[in-house]
Amino acid sequence: MSRFLKEAFKTLSCYVPGEQFQDRKFIKLNTNESPYPPSPLVAARASEAAEGLQLYSDPESAALRKAIAGLHHVKAENVIVSNGSDEVLNFAFLAFGDASHPFVFADITYGFYKVLCDVNDIPYVIVPLREDFTVCAEDYPDSGHIVLANPNAPTGIPMPAEEVEKIVLSNPDRVVIVDEAYADFSEGNCLPLALKYDNVLIVRTFSKSRSMAGARLGYALGNEKLIGDLKLVKDSIDPYNVNLMTSAAGIAAIEENGYYMENCQRIVRTRLETVKKLESLGFTVLPSGANFVFARHSKIGGEELYRTLKEKGVLIRHFSTGRIRDFNRITIGSEEQMDCFFRILGECLKN
Ligand code: PMP
Repeated sequence: MSRFLKEAFKTLSCYVPGEQFQDRKFIKLNTNESPYPPSPLVAARASEAAEGLQLYSDPESAALRKAIAGLHHVKAENVIVSNGSDEVLNFAFLAFGDASHPFVFADITYGFYKVLCDVNDIPYVIVPLREDFTVCAEDYPDSGHIVLANPNAPTGIPMPAEEVEKIVLSNPDRVVIVDEAYADFSEGNCLPLALKYDNVLIVRTFSKSRSMAGARLGYALGNEKLIGDLKLVKDSIDPYNVNLMTSAAGIAAIEENGYYMENCQRIVRTRLETVKKLESLGFTVLPSGANFVFARHSKIGGEELYRTLKEKGVLIRHFSTGRIRDFNRITIGSEEQMDCFFRILGECLKN
């Protein structure tokens, strides 16, 4: 750290992403990426767009927002796009949080929420998940703006939209952000709430269900005025936030929606198989509505399993905190990847 770093950042704990090894090949089940490649049209449009890179991208991202609006049957004014959904989360925290407007989130949820509060100097209130790792609407009584990952991460547990609506109704003067990074792998979603209430913001990403983690594309949907607030922040800190290639790739991915939705269904089928197999091997698996499962073995500790699998070339995600210490988060890969995973897991459990 240099002597110039401001005082407040000297103790900052930043977000720790899952491992991304560049020099060794793993069966990579640790960062919830799609095991399937983008459709060929996506790559073709991105490379066509690359020919015009001497120009800035459209600061309004009009064509992309129109395509996303069409997909969800909303108006372009209800959509803002971002450099990954992490960026639009940051816009929202910056727009709505300050010393007297804390954010409220679960003790076990996406780790980036706490980091966003710390880096933006926003206080936060942590609400413990219930014993069974579910979010309970009654636990969110009007103490700040709320951010919920739904399905939650890393547990994978989905919360029914009617339960989320209870939180919205008991917090009419707070913004309720529903981070739906994994909603395409789940049965329901909260988009109708964003159209019904003026304080609900839905956050989505192309990283998981649309095989574009490396392109960095996210978006938020909500009431025009809420979206306008986010745009104010975006235009103040990152006006050309979505680059030309990503924008073209995103539009193509929407045109090829059927391909991605089929991949999601395939991942859901593989998830159901994975749960059965894990349970038969002595794991407890939390109910998942995502492209990953969160599982604990009755005999082998979470960290030990993570390390043993890593030595054998399989990466899963372990969090060493509190009551989730004995769990691991396992991304659902292709059928072949999961066969390989179970073969290696079998070896680990034998020893
Ligand atoms: N929300 C949740 C719950 C996530 O797990 C992730 C992925 N780390 C994100 C948001 C951010 O995804 P991205 O920035 O790739 O869109």
